[in-house]
Amino acid sequence: MLHIGCHLSSSKGFLAMGRQALELGADTFQFFTRNPRGSKAKDIDPADTQALMHLMAEHHFAPIIAHAPYTLNLCGKEGENRAFARETMADDLRRMEYLPGQYYNFHPGSHVGQGAEAGAAYIAEALNQILCPEQTTTVLLETMAGKGTEVGRNFQEIREILDQVTLSDKMGVCLDTCHVSDAGYDLINDLDGVLAEFDRVIGLDKLKAIHLNDSKNPRGSHKDRHECIGSGCIGLEAITRIIRHPALRDLPFCLETPNDLPGYAQEVELLRKLAE
Ligand code: FE
Ligand code: FE
Ligand code: ZN
Repeated sequence: MLHIGCHLSSSKGFLAMGRQALELGADTFQFFTRNPRGSKAKDIDPADTQALMHLMAEHHFAPIIAHAPYTLNLCGKEGENRAFARETMADDLRRMEYLPGQYYNFHPGSHVGQGAEAGAAYIAEALNQILCPEQTTTVLLETMAGKGTEVGRNFQEIREILDQVTLSDKMGVCLDTCHVSDAGYDLINDLDGVLAEFDRVIGLDKLKAIHLNDSKNPRGSHKDRHECIGSGCIGLEAITRIIRHPALRDLPFCLETPNDLPGYAQEVELLRKLAE
């Protein structure tokens, strides 16, 4: 069965997100660990996280994805900014242990002119300080569209980060379909080729989750503007091939489309039908 969900607001707590997901027909979801500016997170209520874990087990959820604030930059120019990103992520990972065994996804960062190689080195250095052998969370690098000076604009740049992380079994990759199309990969005409390239450069065993989004812009645009499923430049046929692909079909798919909750429910229902 297709594992599909969408991005949800965490304002009402963890159990509320699980219930919300069920109402939408979802069996996974994503949420921001704190507001996008990266301010202080609310204290965790262990009864709330336990209740969510119970609901997830009962309803056979796939792993859920906690998304780091996208303003954090592990490879910024200022040491202070890098330290802030590192400390915030370390705090997120401590909190994630209240939800054992889930995913923590983050945008690798922007090298702001220092170069992708320097960026990858900073990111890996930070991960080597943050990750610990006892953690049960898998940290996912998200594939990026390549706007500005984003690191992770191709599979090679993701590989360069992974290669420098010591606790490599704590690391994985989340492939965002809007981002990889915007980055230039041909999901429409050559999905097999793109996945073969992913396997050659990174290894498909590292692929843990998919952000399933259509794109407002054509392949190679480097824009990162998500579109609703079937209304963008990737289109319904290519998206159907993605959710049915043998190398992908068992992964959790998470929608980050510009939708309200009824819109998400419709997309979940549509994709469940198309996956059959
Ligand atoms: Fe993201
Ligand atoms: Fe994404
Ligand atoms: Zn995006």
